[in-house]
Amino acid sequence: MNMNIPASSPNQPVIAISDLSRRFKSKLALDSVSLNVERGQVFGLVGANGAGKTTLIKHILGLLKAESGSLRVFDLDPVAEPVAVLSRVGFLSEDRDLPGWMRVDELIRYTRAFHAEWDAAYAEQLRGQFQLDPAARIKQLSRGELAKAGLLVALAHRPELLVLDEPSSGLDPIVRREMLEAIVRTVADEGRTVFFSSHLLDEIERVSDRLAMMACGRVVLQGRLDEILESHFRLTLRFPTPPPTPPKLAGALLVTGSGLEWTVLCNGARAELAAAVVRLGARIVDETAASLDEIFLARVGRERSTTANPQPAAWQEATLDTPDAMK
Ligand code: ATP
Repeated sequence: MNMNIPASSPNQPVIAISDLSRRFKSKLALDSVSLNVERGQVFGLVGANGAGKTTLIKHILGLLKAESGSLRVFDLDPVAEPVAVLSRVGFLSEDRDLPGWMRVDELIRYTRAFHAEWDAAYAEQLRGQFQLDPAARIKQLSRGELAKAGLLVALAHRPELLVLDEPSSGLDPIVRREMLEAIVRTVADEGRTVFFSSHLLDEIERVSDRLAMMACGRVVLQGRLDEILESHFRLTLRFPTPPPTPPKLAGALLVTGSGLEWTVLCNGARAELAAAVVRLGARIVDETAASLDEIFLARVGRERSTTANPQPAAWQEATLDTPDAMK
């Protein structure tokens, strides 16, 4: 095992992105994105199709240059110093893009040639674990096998940073689980870092320490997974008489209901929300945890409705209330 991780400063984020924006003609694909990924973290980037995830990853890999704002990987500019950055990165793209004419063992030998740190025993262990036939042609592999072959060559040089764009896109649940386990083990492998994008909330929830939710090129929420789950909850309010309009509560992300009973998906301090409910003349009859799915839908729904359409979307049933401070 290679424990010889070249250090930038130990406290330096592995990825530091500040105010990064990117336009493709009239399309603003990234809008003032700021985020830091610390060493040893699994960082999940979640967003719907077209949210800007791949564009952000292309900047991290130095395939796109920052138009405005800054982006550093290992405190280096990945466009100016691609070799210094990419030699320390393992990458698996959404469309895998592996050479179809090679056999699995040729792919392994070929990729090995680019990496001084290649760990042949680990590559062989992964090949066995992923049940990849060394003689099989890449173009004949199933979707799942192709993803595993891509992950094998991304992992076997034991990169300090593993970047995965939709690693389990199109895969069945068993293969997804195997891939995720391999990813998590990479991090358990001292001080390594994983940055991965997904639109599967359960996958993000299962493995991430920290996450960012993207919508329409913007980061609409980021933080530690446990803190995000802890600070979002659902309150059911009961009114003595039906309120004339959906109740307005600072910290409410999504309000649904009718008549006497309304449910509010909230983000904020419980005591302050409880006091605000009293001021509305209502009482709290139930409080439940919010799932990451619900938080995502509320956050992304709000962003889409404010970006594309001044009216709340029909599926939101009632109203999206005053935005609170984003983390
Ligand atoms: P998906 O989950 O569908 O892969 P994504 O979150 O990765 O989506 P991106 O591929 O980053 O989204 O695209 C963000 C936006 O930028 C989209 O509207 C896309 O059409 C646009 N875009 C991306 N690359 C280009 C390009 N080279 N030229 C023009 N527009 C682009």
